[in-house]
Amino acid sequence: MIPERPTFVDDNGYLRFQDTNQLVHRAIAQLMVGHSLSQKEVVHHKDMDKKNNDPSNLIVCESQDEHERLHHGTYSQPKINSVLAFILFLILSLSIGLGFLLLVYGLVSTFLSKI
Ligand SMILES: [Zn+2]
Repeated sequence: MIPERPTFVDDNGYLRFQDTNQLVHRAIAQLMVGHSLSQKEVVHHKDMDKKNNDPSNLIVCESQDEHERLHHGTYSQPKINSVLAFILFLILSLSIGLGFLLLVYGLVSTFLSKI
């Protein structure tokens, strides 16, 4: 897809062409979408590997906002959510269990005091 050209890794960990200093993933993304990318458009690496510029690993985002959503939607957020859900479930079942025990204790002690 891309002719073999020497590349180097820049300070941010992205591959660039030595001759033009152009970012390799953006050059490949431009070939994928068939037009040059605007400044606003952001290219995302699905596997988070900045050096994996295989077309199947690249997604062109309309804006940085959309890009952010990709990061939060597919990766970090679901993990945090499932941990939070588990903790909430634990707290809820503990308080229900405790509430039930107190209720039984109250009934039993009321019953016993009547004897
Ligand atoms: Zn990204």
